[in-house]
Amino acid sequence: MSRQRSRDLPAHVHTFVVGAGFGGLGLAIKLDEAGERDFLVAERGSDVGGTWRDNTDPGAACDVPSQLYSFSFAPNKDWSRSFSPQPEIQRYLQRVAEESGVLDRFRFGTEVEEMRWDEHDQVWRIRTSRGELTSDVVVSAAGALSDPKLPDIDGIDSFAGETFHSARWPADSDLTGKRVAVIGTGASSIQIVPAIADRVAHLDVYQRTAPWVTPRRDRAYSTLERLALRHVPGLQRAYRTGIYWGREALVPGFVGPRAFSYPAQRMAREHIRKQVDDPELREKVTPDYRIGCKRILISNDYYPTLGRDHVDLVTDPITKVTPSAIVTADGTEREVDVLVVATGFHTTDLPIAERVHGRGGVSLAEHFGEVGMQAYKGSTVHGFPNLFFIVGPNTGLGHSSMVFMIESQIAYTVDAHRRMRESGVAAVEPTAEAQRAWNDDLQRRMRQTVWSAGGCASWYLDEHGRNVTLWPRTTFAFRRLTAQFDPAAYVAAHADDEQEVPA
Ligand code: NAP
Repeated sequence: MSRQRSRDLPAHVHTFVVGAGFGGLGLAIKLDEAGERDFLVAERGSDVGGTWRDNTDPGAACDVPSQLYSFSFAPNKDWSRSFSPQPEIQRYLQRVAEESGVLDRFRFGTEVEEMRWDEHDQVWRIRTSRGELTSDVVVSAAGALSDPKLPDIDGIDSFAGETFHSARWPADSDLTGKRVAVIGTGASSIQIVPAIADRVAHLDVYQRTAPWVTPRRDRAYSTLERLALRHVPGLQRAYRTGIYWGREALVPGFVGPRAFSYPAQRMAREHIRKQVDDPELREKVTPDYRIGCKRILISNDYYPTLGRDHVDLVTDPITKVTPSAIVTADGTEREVDVLVVATGFHTTDLPIAERVHGRGGVSLAEHFGEVGMQAYKGSTVHGFPNLFFIVGPNTGLGHSSMVFMIESQIAYTVDAHRRMRESGVAAVEPTAEAQRAWNDDLQRRMRQTVWSAGGCASWYLDEHGRNVTLWPRTTFAFRRLTAQFDPAAYVAAHADDEQEVPA
């Protein structure tokens, strides 16, 4: 579904929200509920959904059970299975948006080009692809996994066949009878590979690092279950709560002593033993680092697909791409018709950061360049008054639902609106000290986690090896810490006249 570009931009709004995925949509609904109705959501795409609108690659589905991967305030009675496929999640978000009554304040096809804090007037000056406006507050809900990262491989631009990133899958692409190569073996690739194997003539899967893969405990709900979830009062909530605590029980495997991850690693090894007969393939797919260091993947059909006659797992490094083939370090040249690039997203250098300029005209990218990507409570940044993040630095998860984290940050942001309105404060920013203390604590906690000590490189870490993406504690700790806006950590944002925000 594509929504009309609709209506001009107003000259000014109180709150300007970037992005209409789970974050932007949920925030719009909760701001509206709180009586903060003067907001606008700018979305560069043509519909709500964010990552679930963009990632239409074959096999795309959620790795977190649907009962938990949905808004707590908008339960879906219609999930067809325990782990939802992408089209079902996208339909869910469209339905929530349509029933919310807030879509009149969404502007689709509107890309944010630049946002500058005007210290004199205490407003954000915003330039979009459809015109300019000002706002008192900006909330970036632009997503952490939204801008594709393309590999820097010699000659890749010279490839003459069809080529696309996993997150930009062309609706009209037909792989039937073609020789296809997939670069990368992350969460996207391992869903794509089994989904396209039946229709292609030949499939080469290029692996740089083997992922740990565990069984996918996915199944369709029976008619009885669906009826019960729909009609038995409290059942769906109890189910969701059960899944939530089951997921939280996994946290020690990531942040605790090594022994806590043994059961998961044993399960993953057993999965390989059961699904891969060929000793050579077994060796290739067995990782040499601790489970959890990279995102743990779940699939029942990835390994069996790699074992098929017309599918090859290539582990020799790629040295170059020619107009018709991929060449590996051993000198082998493999001809391909279609090149699928499943190499992930920009994660440690938020692309929106280039477009945001705070006090003194400093861009967020420059600021992050100096101190690393960091924020206070993953939500606000010193030097950038009245800028809030939904899914900001160090709010990602390796074990549970991002929607839970998103709802925590929404509550924090809505409460900040309430406090500012009640106290008459025009602008807030966290103190440098509060931000430093928050990040020192985070990085101290990171040291013993599997992400830092597990022996792998991953998209969780920046170029200095700092984990700037994940939350290293339970999600209920984050919920508690963001339950209320905390004025003591903030000052009114006058550069030369810093004032305490009244509590
Ligand atoms: P990803 O996890 O970053 O995986 C990228 C893959 O490409 C890795 O195997 C990486 O190898 C490889 N790669 C990158 N650059 C390369 C190069 N120059 N040459 C060869 N290989 C290269 O990306 P993703 O699979 O799109 O997943 C990203 C995240 O999105 C996931 O971690 C997850 O959070 C989310 N996601 C979730 C789902 C789901 O819920 N089912 C599905 C898709 C994505 P290395 O490992 O060696 O770096």
